[in-house]
Amino acid sequence: MKYWGLLLAKIVAIAGFAWGTNWLIHEFYRVPVETLLPGSKPETHFFATMLWAHAIAGLCWAAMVDQRYRCRTCATRLRMPVATGSWGRATLFGRPKMEYICPYGHGTMNISQLQLTGRETPEWDRHGDMWKELESIGSSRD
Ligand SMILES: [Zn+2]
Repeated sequence: MKYWGLLLAKIVAIAGFAWGTNWLIHEFYRVPVETLLPGSKPETHFFATMLWAHAIAGLCWAAMVDQRYRCRTCATRLRMPVATGSWGRATLFGRPKMEYICPYGHGTMNISQLQLTGRETPEWDRHGDMWKELESIGSSRD
Protein backbone atom coordinates (compact mmCIF):
# COMPACT_ATOMS: atom_id res chain seq x y z
CA MET A 1 0.00 0.00 0.00
CA LYS A 2 2.85 2.36 0.81
CA TYR A 3 4.37 1.58 -2.58
CA TRP A 4 1.31 2.75 -4.51
CA GLY A 5 0.75 5.65 -2.12
CA LEU A 6 4.26 6.90 -2.77
CA LEU A 7 3.72 6.61 -6.52
CA LEU A 8 0.46 8.54 -6.22
CA ALA A 9 2.20 11.22 -4.14
CA LYS A 10 4.91 11.56 -6.79
CA ILE A 11 2.34 11.87 -9.56
CA VAL A 12 0.40 14.52 -7.64
CA ALA A 13 3.63 16.44 -6.88
CA ILE A 14 4.75 16.36 -10.51
CA ALA A 15 1.28 17.39 -11.72
CA GLY A 16 1.27 20.29 -9.24
CA PHE A 17 4.73 21.37 -10.32
CA ALA A 18 3.70 21.11 -13.98
CA TRP A 19 0.57 23.14 -13.41
CA GLY A 20 2.45 25.83 -11.45
CA THR A 21 5.32 26.20 -13.87
CA ASN A 22 2.93 26.20 -16.84
CA TRP A 23 0.99 28.99 -15.19
CA LEU A 24 4.23 30.95 -14.63
CA ILE A 25 5.29 30.48 -18.25
CA HIS A 26 1.98 31.71 -19.53
CA GLU A 27 2.00 34.59 -17.08
CA PHE A 28 5.50 35.88 -17.84
CA TYR A 29 6.12 34.68 -21.39
CA ARG A 30 2.84 35.38 -23.06
CA VAL A 31 2.60 34.90 -26.76
CA PRO A 32 2.16 38.39 -28.18
CA VAL A 33 -1.03 39.01 -30.04
CA GLU A 34 0.96 40.47 -32.89
CA THR A 35 2.96 37.26 -33.33
CA LEU A 36 2.76 37.40 -37.07
CA LEU A 37 4.07 40.94 -37.23
CA PRO A 38 7.73 41.38 -38.14
CA GLY A 39 9.93 42.07 -35.14
CA SER A 40 7.87 40.07 -32.65
CA LYS A 41 9.64 37.32 -30.69
CA PRO A 42 7.41 34.36 -29.94
CA GLU A 43 10.54 32.22 -29.62
CA THR A 44 10.88 32.88 -25.90
CA HIS A 45 7.45 31.36 -25.26
CA PHE A 46 8.23 28.44 -27.55
CA PHE A 47 11.59 27.68 -25.91
CA ALA A 48 10.19 28.10 -22.40
CA THR A 49 7.36 25.70 -23.21
CA MET A 50 9.78 23.23 -24.81
CA LEU A 51 12.08 23.39 -21.78
CA TRP A 52 9.05 22.94 -19.50
CA ALA A 53 7.91 19.85 -21.42
CA HIS A 54 11.39 18.30 -21.24
CA ALA A 55 11.63 19.05 -17.51
CA ILE A 56 8.25 17.40 -16.85
CA ALA A 57 9.21 14.37 -18.94
CA GLY A 58 12.49 14.13 -17.01
CA LEU A 59 10.68 14.30 -13.69
CA CYS A 60 8.29 11.55 -14.78
CA TRP A 61 11.23 9.40 -15.88
CA ALA A 62 13.09 9.99 -12.59
CA ALA A 63 9.95 9.12 -10.61
CA MET A 64 9.50 5.86 -12.55
CA VAL A 65 13.15 4.84 -12.14
CA ASP A 66 13.03 5.67 -8.44
CA GLN A 67 9.82 3.69 -8.04
CA ARG A 68 11.31 0.68 -9.80
CA TYR A 69 14.01 0.32 -7.15
CA ARG A 70 11.68 0.47 -4.14
CA CYS A 71 10.35 -2.30 -1.92
CA ARG A 72 6.84 -3.34 -2.93
CA THR A 73 5.79 -3.56 0.73
CA CYS A 74 7.37 -0.64 2.59
CA ALA A 75 8.48 1.59 -0.35
CA THR A 76 12.02 1.80 1.05
CA ARG A 77 14.83 2.07 -1.48
CA LEU A 78 16.24 -1.36 -2.25
CA ARG A 79 19.87 -1.79 -1.27
CA MET A 80 22.89 -4.04 -1.48
CA PRO A 81 23.03 -4.85 -5.20
CA VAL A 82 24.64 -8.22 -5.81
CA ALA A 83 25.59 -9.49 -9.26
CA THR A 84 24.60 -13.11 -9.82
CA GLY A 85 25.08 -15.42 -12.79
CA SER A 86 27.79 -14.98 -15.37
CA TRP A 87 28.10 -13.66 -18.89
CA GLY A 88 29.98 -16.82 -19.96
CA ARG A 89 26.90 -18.96 -19.32
CA ALA A 90 24.40 -16.33 -20.31
CA THR A 91 22.81 -18.30 -23.15
CA LEU A 92 22.02 -21.44 -21.14
CA PHE A 93 21.84 -21.19 -17.37
CA GLY A 94 22.89 -18.61 -14.86
CA ARG A 95 21.94 -15.54 -16.79
CA PRO A 96 23.53 -12.44 -15.30
CA LYS A 97 21.21 -10.65 -12.91
CA MET A 98 21.45 -7.88 -10.39
CA GLU A 99 19.76 -8.67 -7.12
CA TYR A 100 18.56 -5.99 -4.72
CA ILE A 101 17.11 -6.55 -1.27
CA CYS A 102 14.83 -4.63 1.07
CA PRO A 103 16.78 -3.64 4.20
CA TYR A 104 13.77 -4.74 6.30
CA GLY A 105 13.64 -8.19 4.71
CA HIS A 106 10.36 -7.87 2.80
CA GLY A 107 11.76 -9.27 -0.43
CA THR A 108 14.34 -9.25 -3.18
CA MET A 109 14.21 -7.99 -6.72
CA ASN A 110 16.08 -9.61 -9.60
CA ILE A 111 16.77 -7.49 -12.64
CA SER A 112 18.04 -9.38 -15.65
CA GLN A 113 21.16 -7.82 -17.12
CA LEU A 114 20.70 -9.72 -20.38
CA GLN A 115 17.48 -8.72 -22.08
CA LEU A 116 17.36 -10.41 -25.45
CA THR A 117 13.65 -10.13 -26.14
CA GLY A 118 13.16 -6.54 -25.11
CA ARG A 119 12.77 -4.98 -21.72
CA GLU A 120 11.87 -7.56 -19.09
CA THR A 121 9.85 -6.87 -15.99
CA PRO A 122 11.96 -7.26 -12.84
CA GLU A 123 11.13 -10.26 -10.66
CA TRP A 124 9.98 -9.41 -7.15
CA ASP A 125 10.26 -12.26 -4.65
CA ARG A 126 8.33 -11.61 -1.48
CA HIS A 127 9.96 -13.07 1.60
CA GLY A 128 8.10 -14.59 4.49
CA ASP A 129 8.53 -13.40 8.01
CA MET A 130 12.24 -13.95 8.65
CA TRP A 131 11.81 -13.74 12.43
CA LYS A 132 9.38 -16.68 12.41
CA GLU A 133 11.83 -18.59 10.27
CA LEU A 134 14.67 -17.86 12.70
CA GLU A 135 12.49 -18.85 15.67
CA SER A 136 11.58 -22.11 13.97
CA ILE A 137 15.27 -22.94 13.55
CA GLY A 138 15.85 -22.38 17.25
CA SER A 139 12.76 -24.34 18.32
CA SER A 140 13.60 -27.37 16.16
CA ARG A 141 16.89 -27.86 18.07
CA ASP A 142 15.09 -28.18 21.39
ZN1 LIG B 1 10.52 -3.46 2.54
